[in-house]
Amino acid sequence: MSASLATVSYIGATILFILSLGGLSNQTTALRGNLYGMIGMSIAVLATVFGPKVSGFASYAWIIGAMVVGGGIGLYAARTVQMTQMPELVALMHSMVGLAAMLVGFATYIDTSIPLEGAEKAIHEMEIYIGILIGAVTFAGSVIAFGKLSGRIGGKTLLLPGRHFMNLGLLLVVIYFGREFLHADAATGMTPLIVMTIMALLFGVHMVMAIGGADMPVVVSMLNSYSGWAAAATGFMLSNDLLIVIGALVGSSGAILSYIMCNAMNRSFISVIAGGFGSTSAAPKAATGDAQPVGEVTPVNAAETAELLREAKSVVIVPGYGMAVAQAQHTVYEITKVLREKGVNVRFGIHPVAGRMPGHMNVLLAEAKVPYDIVFEMDELNDDFPTTDVAIVIGANDIVNPAAQDDPTSPIAGMPVLEVWKAKTSIVMKRSMASGYAGVDNPLFYKENNRMLFGDAKKMLDEVLTVLKAS
Ligand code: NDP
Repeated sequence: MSASLATVSYIGATILFILSLGGLSNQTTALRGNLYGMIGMSIAVLATVFGPKVSGFASYAWIIGAMVVGGGIGLYAARTVQMTQMPELVALMHSMVGLAAMLVGFATYIDTSIPLEGAEKAIHEMEIYIGILIGAVTFAGSVIAFGKLSGRIGGKTLLLPGRHFMNLGLLLVVIYFGREFLHADAATGMTPLIVMTIMALLFGVHMVMAIGGADMPVVVSMLNSYSGWAAAATGFMLSNDLLIVIGALVGSSGAILSYIMCNAMNRSFISVIAGGFGSTSAAPKAATGDAQPVGEVTPVNAAETAELLREAKSVVIVPGYGMAVAQAQHTVYEITKVLREKGVNVRFGIHPVAGRMPGHMNVLLAEAKVPYDIVFEMDELNDDFPTTDVAIVIGANDIVNPAAQDDPTSPIAGMPVLEVWKAKTSIVMKRSMASGYAGVDNPLFYKENNRMLFGDAKKMLDEVLTVLKAS
């Protein structure tokens, strides 16, 4: 493939990626957005593999070998991963981008086949240094995020004394060794590069270990953004314009998502990445990571729940992580259909950080074919709870916790929540009195107008559906 054809293909792929991002911004066009992305990526890979920079049988053998192994692992992961493991998979993929940026950085440094001099050499080395730095932070941070999301690492925050000074110290060391690296020759440059890599890895681990309470969503979207910048840095190192553009697209869209997440959590971006949010001295409960229930609750059974729903004129369903665990979305929609046939106004209220990844609930509801026009964002619905007869909470906890509004010492204080307790009756469906991701008790459970329907969400909803259909 000629260089000009490769350039044209790159421009085509870039346009498709932009169209893809545009499509993904709306549920009705998301499928098309995905398709654009897939076509764009296929063009990008083909144009790179058959482009002017790759030649010779040995190169193709390596590429095909790597694609078979990587594609095989990807295919296996995509087929076997459960919906509840999706956030962990995403974190793991971000870590791969970081690792790739690190490895490409070291390989580019070791490769002396293209001799560079003067300013060109300095710029190239800066690209390598910054690329490895971003890659190492992304890699280490994403591995820890994977551990936290999969429950392999506890949700408790690691609050080292003087952690802000430690971060500052790490930054100064990185700057110092950057200077050393730029002044070093080929024989001595590896030492500062390795020292910086270790510092960056430590920073990545420390940054995510210090995140607590309900702030993980911000970290997940932030690491998404970092992985984009790591890809862009790799593009600079390899002089691949397409990788630079795609990296910048992912990096900036991830940054916008982080900003949106911060707004949703009522957090400042800087304070989240500086760490320790969700478990400060003013928030002692988070340190336990597993609050104990304090109060009396009113349990109900499936038949009583069905009765309450049948008598209601207006119902709001609030899904959370437990709905994903129970895979209850299809039954939820069956119940919705039965109620709507009876003339009940049923709507869904989606919290921006419900579940374990941005858009988690929307994906599940779309999978169950719930019509988009009855799915509302938190802000669109919160004012309607006082006129709602029944608010039914399916496997959600932190996102409906009134302590976020009432208790300034709570680790989730200030986080906007769905005000389900303002409905005439709220019903919380979960298996036990266990706390949610943030590890804090939920005063909603003890409110007079609240009922608890204990059990697996899918099993309980099946029972509710049977009663509703029978009546
Ligand atoms: P929570 O984690 O607060 O609560 C989920 C509840 O679901 C649990 O209390 C659990 O209670 C219940 N549950 C689990 N399995 C089942 C089941 N099979 N049937 C019925 N109930 C079940 O989830 P929310 O969605 O309310 O809030 C999300 C939390 O996750 C927030 O703190 C958010 O910050 C955090 N987070 C969000 C991310 C995102 O991007 N959206 C990423 C990372 C973290 P029990 O065990 O008693 O059944």
